[in-house]
Amino acid sequence: MAIERTLSIIKPDATRRNLTGKINAKFEEAGLRIVAQKRIRLSLEQAGKFYEVHKDRPFYGELCEFMASEPVVVQVLEGEGAIAKNREVMGATNPANAADGTIRKEFALSMGENSVHGSDAPETAAVEIAYFFSGLELVG
Ligand code: ADP
Repeated sequence: MAIERTLSIIKPDATRRNLTGKINAKFEEAGLRIVAQKRIRLSLEQAGKFYEVHKDRPFYGELCEFMASEPVVVQVLEGEGAIAKNREVMGATNPANAADGTIRKEFALSMGENSVHGSDAPETAAVEIAYFFSGLELVG
C-alpha cells in the first residue's frame, strides 16, 4: 500500500483535558508518523471554512463554535494507507459506536465533542493539509 499523508485535528474537548500526548501515542503505536504539528486557535470564520462541506447540516453552527472555542492541535500524519489507518484509530463518529481501543471510544465526550478529526479521502487530505500547512512545514 502507498505511503499517504492525512490531516488530523485534536479537537478542543481533548486539548482542554490535556489529552494531546495520549492521542499522539495512539497514532504512533499504529505506525503513523507525525510529520507536522502545531497548536492554533481557530476563528469562527476559519472553522466555518474548514467544515464548509457540512454547511447545510443542522449541527454546522454548533460544530464551528465548538472548533473555535479553545485551541486545537493540527497535524499531518504519514504512513502506509495513512488515511484509512487514521480513521480506524479514531473510531466511529459517535463514540457509542466506536470500537474498543479507538481514540473516540476512550476519550470522546459526545457525537460533536469527539476528540479528533481525520481526512476521509486522498482529495480531501490534500486540500485540508494545504489549508493549515505550507510544504516547508512538512518534515517526513
Ligand atoms: P467524521 O468526523 O467522523 O468524519 P462527519 O464528517 O460526519 O464525521 O462529521 C464531522 C464532525 O461533525 C464530527 O466529527 C462531529 O464533531 C460533528 N458531527 C457530526 N454529526 C453530528 C451530529 N449529529 N451532532 C453533532 N455533531 C455532529
